[in-house]
Amino acid sequence: MELIKITSTQNYVIKIGNIIEGGSESPVKKYADRYIYLENGRIASITGAGDASYQFTQPTRPTISLDLGGLTVLPPLVDCHVHMALDGLDFSAARQRWDQPDELYTQVGAQLWDTLCHGILAVRDGGDLSGIGLRYRELVANDSLPGPIIRASGYALRKPQKYGSFLGRGIPTEMLDSTLDDLTRLKVDQIKVLVSGVVSFQEYARVGPLQYTADELKALVEGAHSRGLGVMAHASSDEAVAMAVQAGVDTIEHGYFLSRATLELMAKNKVAWIPTVIPVAAQEARGRFSRFLAGKQENRPLASPPASNVIAQTVERQLSMISEAHALGVTLGVGTDAGASGVRHGYSYWQELNLYRQAGLTPDEIIRCATINSAHILGLDWGGIAPERPAAMIAVSGNPLADIGNLQNIAYVFQPE
Ligand SMILES: [Zn+2]
Repeated sequence: MELIKITSTQNYVIKIGNIIEGGSESPVKKYADRYIYLENGRIASITGAGDASYQFTQPTRPTISLDLGGLTVLPPLVDCHVHMALDGLDFSAARQRWDQPDELYTQVGAQLWDTLCHGILAVRDGGDLSGIGLRYRELVANDSLPGPIIRASGYALRKPQKYGSFLGRGIPTEMLDSTLDDLTRLKVDQIKVLVSGVVSFQEYARVGPLQYTADELKALVEGAHSRGLGVMAHASSDEAVAMAVQAGVDTIEHGYFLSRATLELMAKNKVAWIPTVIPVAAQEARGRFSRFLAGKQENRPLASPPASNVIAQTVERQLSMISEAHALGVTLGVGTDAGASGVRHGYSYWQELNLYRQAGLTPDEIIRCATINSAHILGLDWGGIAPERPAAMIAVSGNPLADIGNLQNIAYVFQPE
């Protein structure tokens, strides 16, 4: 993979084999033999091989020519749910690193690079207790580290004594409002709230209990919206999702065992869904190899290894609800929960896309979820490869519309300054 930083002081002429435009058309449009002209960090024009070439408005600026003939250019991928504070390999080692700045810098730096190498140019961080997502957002923004744009949540909000001590602070009801003030001061990009516990890997359809009440959640969402902040809701059960949707949250994270009625409500209220299948599917391997993992990666035996039949059933159920959500018109984003046990930054994104394929979505539908839908969820104005849009693009070998697996062949990543 070659990373090309697009500066606003240079002009670019890029010859491309194919372009998948993205944008609002469905199915996504594909054109052959095109030239892309970049000016001021944006796409100035796209022309066919036989068309008259574009005249730069500032022709005196240096012009860089690239010949990427044979490659397909498409909008960048976006991961709607990661945790930069965790590595997906060893939870306790990752936690120890939080107090070791040098080790943390090396590890998170590698994760950010892996993310870029997989064509992911923006991520939404689901939070951590120690503010690592926020700190690394700044390091990337001021060019200290190469990495994707990070939309950071700071610390998550959860009910005291309930699930999620590494993700956020236990906030009693009477402190919800002042906590929103604190998070606003920290300049978070969105609020992350834990509406329920997590899904069980040992018992089918068992999910941790609800945290805040419906009224508390509603007040929290109103408070966030009045401060200009969206709300990403960790909600694992149908009950938790229905409550979160009724409270007015912006996105549902995880959402296992959803009912059709809840999906219909999400479609009606335009609440996006990030179904995160890979954190469950990855447990299959952890269950199978638990005797090797014990005492090695995890530094402790797996007290309750995942049950493979429970994992398979949960994944199957989630895939069928993805297909149903798509049919009902629910906006689907793509999120990995990278950093969760068994979920790698960058690499696991492909696993998640393959799971969408298993759910029956076509490559062009998957590309739409991974690019346009997910960029929209993060509030980015990446509306596809089109004039006036920022020059955020990726180039892959092969045609991802014929085989979604070709999205793994990232040749170039174009990142505007
Ligand atoms: Zn998460």
